[in-house]
Amino acid sequence: MGSLDELAALPPLAKDDLNTALAHLEPRAAAGATWLFQSGGSTGAPKLGYAPTGFYMAGVHAHWQPLDRDDTFVNAWGAGRMWGAHFLAAALADLAGCRVIALGSVTREEYGEWLGFLADRRATAIGGTPSVLRLWFAHARAAGLKLPALRKVLWLGEAWQPQLDEDLAAVAPQARRWGMFGSTETWVVGTNTPDCPADTFHPLPRQLVHAGPDGLLDFTTLDPEVLNPVLRYRTGDAGELTTCRCGRPGRAMRVLGRRDSVVQVRGLGLHVDELLARAEREPGVSRAQVVITEYGGRATGVDLLLLAPAAARTGGVDTARLRTELLSATFTLSTAFQHDPENFRVRAVHELVGNDRTGKTAGFVIRTADGETS
Ligand SMILES: [Zn+2]
Repeated sequence: MGSLDELAALPPLAKDDLNTALAHLEPRAAAGATWLFQSGGSTGAPKLGYAPTGFYMAGVHAHWQPLDRDDTFVNAWGAGRMWGAHFLAAALADLAGCRVIALGSVTREEYGEWLGFLADRRATAIGGTPSVLRLWFAHARAAGLKLPALRKVLWLGEAWQPQLDEDLAAVAPQARRWGMFGSTETWVVGTNTPDCPADTFHPLPRQLVHAGPDGLLDFTTLDPEVLNPVLRYRTGDAGELTTCRCGRPGRAMRVLGRRDSVVQVRGLGLHVDELLARAEREPGVSRAQVVITEYGGRATGVDLLLLAPAAARTGGVDTARLRTELLSATFTLSTAFQHDPENFRVRAVHELVGNDRTGKTAGFVIRTADGETS
């Protein structure tokens, strides 16, 4: 591979192709440990990946320094279970020379006590997956707790959630968001600052980003130290190249969300994003999730879960009306459940189905009838 033209002539690499290639590789880091981790798995089955100690964060820190020596950084990404984000953030903190509270994930009952501890320690920065950060700040807001010293919120792994801005305004009004975009196949591709829109990132010099004619982004890693580098890898995210309003010169990438959200239900394609967008327009619904239950490879039921924390005050969400409307307006649902419409359900819940390992709450989850979640 000698030139950009040759690279552009390659077909994009899909997740299944990469998994086939990884199954034949057993790379080793040139120095230090080789970390085996689980790659992917937010919406599908996880596969094995490899990374050296440091997780390539020196290249990120050279261009993006949200943390400095005076910070006390709370690392709220889950640790262990072969998941990389906690250790990646720890590597960044190491380069910044700040103080670190390696918190990881906590249970619902523990939030109050830990929030008090973090306020006492005058934590200035916290980092996590937006789904996890929402739990922290929603809990703090509901309990009237404040983190007055907090200035920085680092995030990676999912799109920023606008509800976080509302909760932060109440809990930590000085805090600003600092985002990383990437995947466990590409590692960190780009970063942004509080001056950038939340969906816009500046690619790092060692990452090539390309937006295809179909609107899908593909990524090429140029770092020679990457143990399993990718050429034109498609993460499933749609996006475009743009200029950023922060004024930093050069092309930025705007990420428009995932495009791999069509799932097969009884042989028909269900557009999960459309269903979620409709549900999230319902008054009081802060977030929705589609849970597909399968038995023997066939969908036995589809549940639309509605997280509606504020709706209790206004008499709740009219799930029966929404269900009737969705069933008649969604071809896939009305056709697939023609003979057993009772197996499409709409329910208001207190909690969506999260992935304990990644800390993410995906838009759709497939559950097999024996209880396994993927
Ligand atoms: Zn910018």
